[in-house]
Amino acid sequence: MSETVAEQLGALRAAALACTACRLSEGRTHVVFGDGSPDADVVIVGEAPGRREDEQGVPFVGPSGKLLDRLLAEIGLERDDVYIANVVKCRPPGNRDPRPDEIEACKGYLREQLRLIDPKVVVTLGNFSSKLLLKTDTGITRLRGTAYEWWGRHLVPTFHPAAALRGSARVLEDMRYDFSLIRDAIDGNLASQDDPEPETTPASGPDPEQLGLFGR
Ligand code: SF4
Repeated sequence: MSETVAEQLGALRAAALACTACRLSEGRTHVVFGDGSPDADVVIVGEAPGRREDEQGVPFVGPSGKLLDRLLAEIGLERDDVYIANVVKCRPPGNRDPRPDEIEACKGYLREQLRLIDPKVVVTLGNFSSKLLLKTDTGITRLRGTAYEWWGRHLVPTFHPAAALRGSARVLEDMRYDFSLIRDAIDGNLASQDDPEPETTPASGPDPEQLGLFGR
C-alpha cells in the first residue's frame, strides 16, 4: 500500500528534525518544520522561525499567529484547515534574513511540502517569501492585491501579520482583501488574473516535482 501524504510528511519532518545541512542548525532550539492539515487547500509560507517559534517548534505563534488565525476565521478557515510553513526551518540568529546558501540548503523541504500537499492556493506572508517565490524584486506593497497563476495553482502574496500589528489600519484592511482572494480561489470564484509585471510570474508548470522554487 502506498504511503499517505501524512506519512510522507511525517518522514520529511523526521529528516528535517535531524538536519544539519546549513549553519542555522547550530543555533536552533527546535526545527520548525510546519504545521497543519496534509489535505489543506491552502499552504501559507512565511520567512523563517522567530524566537517564539524556535522555542516551541511551531510556526506563527504569538501575536502574529493570533492575527493570522483571526484573518483565517474571517474567511471561514481554522488553522487546522490550512498548512503553515516557512522558507527555512531553523531560526536565523537575531532574526536576520536567511542567506542564499541557507535557502538553497533548505528549499527541498518546502518544495516537498508543496508537492505532497498540492494545495489550490499558496499564500506568501511578507516581502521575503513573496519576492522569493514569485522571483521578483518588486516589494509586497505592489505585489499584493492580486492572485497570481503559479505552477498550476494560485499564489496570493500579502503582508506579514507583524506589519499589520505595527502598521496602520490600512494594512489590516489590505490583508482582509487579500484573504478574500484566498476564499475566492478555494471556491473557484477567481477570474484568472495575469501579472501586470510579467517578470514576476513563472509560467504554469504541470509537474510540481519541477517547481523551480527560488531559482533565479
Ligand atoms: S535551515 Fe533547513 S537546511 Fe538549514 S539546518 Fe535547518 S532544516 Fe536543515
